[in-house]
Amino acid sequence: MTDFLPEPDNSGNHGGSPPSYHMSPDEFRRHGYALIDWLASYMETVGERQVMPDVKPGDIAASIPMTAPEKPEQFEELIGDLDKVVMPGITHWQSPGWFAYYPAMTSGPSILGELVSAGLGVQGMLWETSPAVTEIENRVTDWLVDLLGLPETWKNKTGPGGGVLQSSASDATHLVHVVARERATALQKGRPEFVAYTSVQAHSSVEKGAHVAGIEHYRGIDVDENLSIDPVALQEAITADRAAGLTPLIVTSVLGTTGTAAVDPIAEIAKIAKDEGLWHHVDAAYGGSAMICPELRYLQEGAELVDSYTFNPHKWMFTNFDCNVLWVSDRTSLIDAMSITPPYLKNEASDSGEVIDYRNWQVPLGRRFRALKLWWVLRSYGAEGIRYHLREHVRLTKAIAERVEQHEHLALTAPIHFGLVCFHHSSGNEATEALLKEINQVPNIYLTGSSLGSKRFIRLSTGSTSTTAESVKQLWDIIDQAATA
Ligand code: PLP
Repeated sequence: MTDFLPEPDNSGNHGGSPPSYHMSPDEFRRHGYALIDWLASYMETVGERQVMPDVKPGDIAASIPMTAPEKPEQFEELIGDLDKVVMPGITHWQSPGWFAYYPAMTSGPSILGELVSAGLGVQGMLWETSPAVTEIENRVTDWLVDLLGLPETWKNKTGPGGGVLQSSASDATHLVHVVARERATALQKGRPEFVAYTSVQAHSSVEKGAHVAGIEHYRGIDVDENLSIDPVALQEAITADRAAGLTPLIVTSVLGTTGTAAVDPIAEIAKIAKDEGLWHHVDAAYGGSAMICPELRYLQEGAELVDSYTFNPHKWMFTNFDCNVLWVSDRTSLIDAMSITPPYLKNEASDSGEVIDYRNWQVPLGRRFRALKLWWVLRSYGAEGIRYHLREHVRLTKAIAERVEQHEHLALTAPIHFGLVCFHHSSGNEATEALLKEINQVPNIYLTGSSLGSKRFIRLSTGSTSTTAESVKQLWDIIDQAATA
């Protein structure tokens, strides 16, 4: 029979301690302190770094051996490689000069929450597998219902809706397409040909979500002059699809489109969705965070009428990727679509019906302790702190927009609602491209461009944790000079 002790030596003794390859708690403490110091120095110096790395494809991989090490390495060497191997290939998203895409914020409380979550190493798939994971997530998503001015009935505590943290807005949007399909299929004989609708300006995840959910048809609906979905065009598309024997299934409104941060008229779409029996989802991945400011909530008027709503604290709420909130107004259809219970997951708490098992609110089984970092961000900043910084971003965005409007060579491309200014050179696409290139010559600044039809424009997105009035002013001076030259 196999002994529990290590193999005996020649004299029959069971020898000394067996070798251990684990990092001891003392070593962990030492390296952990060193890495926190390293990260704090990174935060202090990120603004001085060139935002975009100077590497060619394959450069970073070339400095890593082709095969994994057989022998353990000293952890000091690993830390040393952060500067030697990793940093040369890092794009500095946390730089105060980062104005590209949308923000992917992080912050001290969030990083520390992430660290503890990894250290505890728990799975929160069932209430029983770590009650704190579920109950903190219940409470934090309920807090956010109040903070964003959403309906009381979306709270886990009061229901019938509820909130859950998932990895991304794309996952949440995909999921609700599946849930809408399951709900509708249960009501029909046979399998109809479904149609999903959203604005032509919606994020590609809506089309992908519909596709992955097996929805047969996808319609990108035209937008008006504000780049918001045109409700008349939506109604016409639904009517035409019904006439063609198809079954309209789901419509997604967007609160802050990816290209230009446009806002769809949620209340008008909600009316169409109700009359037509469609699931109505709101993709507030970017704009949702701003709803913590009551003066901006008019933008989501009608949200209380929708079936589901998703937003990304990992974009504009100081919480590092990944952290996405999904609310459903009625949790039953979500749970019905996602529940399969094998015998090894059965337990008393679940059977009691008194707890939430979040594995039934998502596709994967396993789930990490995401709520900790969000809980710490909300407590450490307070709603007041988050509002203060978001309002600052919006104020600085308006300051840039006013200057663009007054500039003799520049023009705004789209209305401003949040922290994004879209602008172009009045001489046309070539001049806009040249301007973007010229601005991005400055090493510690980075912006990206996009298109509306054939029109090229520059996206200037404020909202890094490190964005300051100085960094925005510095950027404006660079834009002004480049556009005037
Ligand atoms: N929806 C909108 C409006 C977005 O702007 C984005 C990303 O920029 C997404 C969805 C996708 O977000 P995620 O990366 O969380 O899937």
